[in-house]
Amino acid sequence: MIASKPMPHDVAATGVPGSLRERFHIAPGLRYFDGNSLGLMPRAAAQAAMRAVTQEWAEGLILSWNQAGWDTLPQRAGEKIARLVGAAPGQLVACDSTSVNLYKVLVSAVRLRPGRSTIVTDIDSFPTDLYIIDQVARQFGLRVQQIPASAMAAALDTQTAAVVLTQVDYRTAQVHDMAAFNQAAHAAGALMVWDLSHTAGAIPCALDATQADFAVGCGYKYLNGGPGAPGYLYVAQRHQQACEQPLAGWFGHARPFEFTPTYQPAPGVARFLCGTSPVVALSILDAALDAFDGSDMARLYAQSLVLSDAFIDGVDRQLAPHGFAIASPRPHAARGSHVSLRHPRGYEIMQELARRQIIGDFRMPDFMRFGFAPLYNTLQDVQALIDALDQVMRDAAWQRSDPQVRRAFT
Ligand SMILES: *Cc1c(COP(=O)(O)O)cnc(C)c1O
Repeated sequence: MIASKPMPHDVAATGVPGSLRERFHIAPGLRYFDGNSLGLMPRAAAQAAMRAVTQEWAEGLILSWNQAGWDTLPQRAGEKIARLVGAAPGQLVACDSTSVNLYKVLVSAVRLRPGRSTIVTDIDSFPTDLYIIDQVARQFGLRVQQIPASAMAAALDTQTAAVVLTQVDYRTAQVHDMAAFNQAAHAAGALMVWDLSHTAGAIPCALDATQADFAVGCGYKYLNGGPGAPGYLYVAQRHQQACEQPLAGWFGHARPFEFTPTYQPAPGVARFLCGTSPVVALSILDAALDAFDGSDMARLYAQSLVLSDAFIDGVDRQLAPHGFAIASPRPHAARGSHVSLRHPRGYEIMQELARRQIIGDFRMPDFMRFGFAPLYNTLQDVQALIDALDQVMRDAAWQRSDPQVRRAFT
């Protein structure tokens, strides 16, 4: 007798085969909605970590820089990310953290616009971005204009050196129009720097086609590169030769192994590398990115919308009495891949959900965030989440959590 394989639950509804989900380790009983903060572990990531440590390091040792291709990992992982964000080859490398990469590209941008006096950014930016922008401004004697994203385009003028914006807002999932902002920045003679931390791997992105100048982003969110995974940076081909990045280290040198006392930048985007790569972490990220093999962002985005629509619909229909406010935009084009609800008891509710193996996260002051990762979340996950929220509110089970006791990491 031939046992037929059961149809993966969501194939009919979304066209995304269940086999993508099978590429991930998912603990039994877990419903995970935090792939926007720390993605699940692709099975291939564990194998890559083992290989990098027990073979390439233990056996190959220093020879592995060449033989195992450690030397080109930033480029190889970078090109896999480039495919997801609409960048042609030769413009994106995986390296350092998002914060450090923002520093490198923003300094490069303001150096390309000497004589201009301001950096414009969104007042609701992720705080690390604001902190880095402030330091760059202090170092170059510039002024920062922190204003609502909706007012940014109108605020650009001949004094604007650079504009920094996160494409998908980390709290609300509001999506900002990349083409429109690039155009507005360029019309003012400024350069546009994007943070794609909540974009890459979740929604389609067209860096080249929309004429973006610079971009940075995280490797551990929708890209599933693991805790503290290297981030990435993009520099449009047309700017690379003129860019002088401030963390000029030997890995960004044109010929690092000539050990010359003077710095000469590598010809392309490689000049944005700094020191020795974190090889094990990069090997994991590189392997994790293969979870996207065989799918394209348009298809994954369709899955993302099916999931977030189902969640919003469930909140409207089933959770109406419980007083949640949907903080994310409803129109598809304005919404990324997570949905935020606001509730005065949001922190305690999230704690109670976690006790039930339903994991999302909380952002100040009252945002309950639920990420829908198109590679592995299913409609069954969404219904389980709606049912659990309903139950927690009906039973007032959130009262079991003490609102005064907050963990350091939420
Ligand atoms: C997650 C996130 C970061 C994190 O930066 P790290 O340097 O990786 O800690 C930065 N910016 C945005 C918009 C983020 O969402």
